[in-house]
Amino acid sequence: MVRVGFIDTSPFWKYSYGEYHPLKMYRLYLTQELQRAKGLLEEVEILYPKMADMGLIKKFHSEDYLRVLELADEGDWRDYMIYYGLGTGDCPVVKGIYTASLLSAGASQLCAEYIIKGGKYAFNMAGGLHHAMPDRASGFCYINDPVIAIFKLLQNFKRVLYLDIDAHHGDGVERAFYSDRRVFTISTHESGKYLFPGTGFEYEMGEGEGFGYSLNFPFPPNSGDDVYIWAFENVIKRAIENFKPEVVVLQSGADALKGDPLTHWNLTTNSYITVYDFVLSLGIPVLALGGGGYNVGNVCRLWTILLSKLTGKAIDDQVPEEWKERARRYGVNIEKIFDFETTTSSSTVWDEVKRVADYLLQNHPILK
Ligand SMILES: [Zn+2]
Repeated sequence: MVRVGFIDTSPFWKYSYGEYHPLKMYRLYLTQELQRAKGLLEEVEILYPKMADMGLIKKFHSEDYLRVLELADEGDWRDYMIYYGLGTGDCPVVKGIYTASLLSAGASQLCAEYIIKGGKYAFNMAGGLHHAMPDRASGFCYINDPVIAIFKLLQNFKRVLYLDIDAHHGDGVERAFYSDRRVFTISTHESGKYLFPGTGFEYEMGEGEGFGYSLNFPFPPNSGDDVYIWAFENVIKRAIENFKPEVVVLQSGADALKGDPLTHWNLTTNSYITVYDFVLSLGIPVLALGGGGYNVGNVCRLWTILLSKLTGKAIDDQVPEEWKERARRYGVNIEKIFDFETTTSSSTVWDEVKRVADYLLQNHPILK
């Protein structure tokens, strides 16, 4: 049996970014309960989150920022915190924010340790907080857990692939390894022309020693499965094969699924499954992370599919009645887990995606 480590997200359920914030902690609760209802938790080794090591955290985050974030743990905002991105609508100062952030990073670190000790796959749904910057909170993210996990993996692996398929550009992780050739960061996302954080253009390819080890594929709004799968097959796969990773960190934000309230994508679970199947076909360890996802039903469906793929236990499309009842209390209604029809894109979208693909195929060092 393949060994799969799975972070128990229950320690996170009690936290809240506030009633009107789009990131809902109950998405973790409902997803984990759906995974349990589908029998998937019987297939994993449950890992209980711990706080991240400060030594690892300080490899990326500044001491000043960490000190101020710790002060914010009480939930009382003070004006100087704004210099560190704390107290904005996106990154509110709420009780326990320092503790929860260190716990999320520690959970991703634990997944990395599980893989170093010989586990094949690990999954932290409470991670994937890819926007956090060295000295500021950004985009609902305070501590960059993917960066912490990658630093841990680098103690054992020489070539780490970071593949980010969240709707948004994985800017914080790219920043951490922009001049580091040991880590190849790939991000597919809605173009920064239309969506936060406004970066991740095709010409961003890394710098210095790391030139050629960052790849960005920006998509126009309303991109469907047809263009996404085409770009993945024709550009991303080739880049991954050329890099020859030893381990993959997969950030699988669910906000590129159609129906997400913050983005303008038109993907179904078919696009994500294409990525999952390819990544698992590499035969190397995979550390999977959550990420964005503001349509809670989509989050529950997608990360249940991902856990099914990791464990190798196939699931059917049925949503158990008991779970449905529980989810309804949170205003979440889903009738099926998989999307069966693939979505198509307009000719304008196709033209733009082909333009980006051509640019990358002609100019990106890893694709030449
Ligand atoms: Zn996102």
